Amino acid sequence: MSLTPHGGRLVTVNTFDNSAEKSKELSENSTVRVSRETFVQMFNISSGVLSPLVGFMGKADYENVIDNMRLADDTPWTIPVILHVPETFNAGGGDEITLIDESGKAVGILAFEELFTFSKKEFSKKVFGTEDEAHPGVAKTFASSDRAVGGRLKSVLKFNKGPFENFTLSPKETRVLFKEKSWKEIIAFQTRNAPHIGHEYVQKTGLAFADGLFINPVIGRKKSGDFTDEVILDTYQALVKNYYPKNSVVLSVLHYEMQYAGPKEAIMHAIMRKNFGCTHIAIGRDHAGVGNYYGPYAAHEIFKEFPDLGIQAVFFREFFYCNKCAGIANEKICPHPESDRLSFSGTKLRKMFLSGETPPKEFMRPEVSQVILRSKAPFVE
Ligand SMILES: [Zn+2]
Repeated sequence: MSLTPHGGRLVTVNTFDNSAEKSKELSENSTVRVSRETFVQMFNISSGVLSPLVGFMGKADYENVIDNMRLADDTPWTIPVILHVPETFNAGGGDEITLIDESGKAVGILAFEELFTFSKKEFSKKVFGTEDEAHPGVAKTFASSDRAVGGRLKSVLKFNKGPFENFTLSPKETRVLFKEKSWKEIIAFQTRNAPHIGHEYVQKTGLAFADGLFINPVIGRKKSGDFTDEVILDTYQALVKNYYPKNSVVLSVLHYEMQYAGPKEAIMHAIMRKNFGCTHIAIGRDHAGVGNYYGPYAAHEIFKEFPDLGIQAVFFREFFYCNKCAGIANEKICPHPESDRLSFSGTKLRKMFLSGETPPKEFMRPEVSQVILRSKAPFVE
């Protein structure tokens, strides 16, 4: 399989540093205030993670994505990337819009193309498969406006990667790196967790047939009780250092906010990793799910609808440690009863850490546990 970016080309958008000067220069433009999440999307557009998007979707792309899971030009795409604008928004007849952050600082320039409205109900139903406002994606949709502006991003404020500077590679950089390593088959692993033995098992099963493993943890707003971004990165460094052959892994973070859109988000996760240059992606049980909104393997089924996706999904079931098998197993290969099995429960792990207990080594590598136990606040409050 070739390493062609999604839609055929890797997008890059110019960046700028001097925001105060930029703000003055752009004082004639109408402005739109964007959230942190939108700014992160802008960063991902500008670095090519969301190729072939060059900006925010217009109506034609939006409608084709929610109805047919494809951009207007038929490229697979499952979740709209839109710029919400308030009801009072007026383009002012200009062809440029300045995007500003909460403090009024310019964070991007958009070439205005069109203003359109959409139904939040339809968006929720088609993207998340539900209109239930208990679903975090639906709640967010209903809290935003139903007006959006489409257009190309002309430039974006340079993204401050903070403590993750050295671990934020762009698709351009990962592609160079994979080439230098002469990796042809690269399997991507998406995560928002500190690694337990089940995760390592999935990664190593993938690595057994691929040339390299791309571990790509999501950094961004998390739910209360999740591991913090710092802990996720530190635990992965400990795991890779102690349990992976040298030069078999690239560890880099993805600045991104989970949407919890289950199967549709699994496709987006695959598209982003294709842009990083990966040929394969591991898709687990209830991938990108939340609560009980999606069937446990709905995120596997959906890939059948995209024979032209250009990245191969590798499907994994739920793993557990089996005392009788004396190793990691799943329901497909282990005949033993529940009482012999130790499931990798995040809730159970969290409880152990909160009481200062070290999980058994069948559950988590001691080097990984130590990172978590040493951290003053390993969980998001
Ligand atoms: Zn067994």
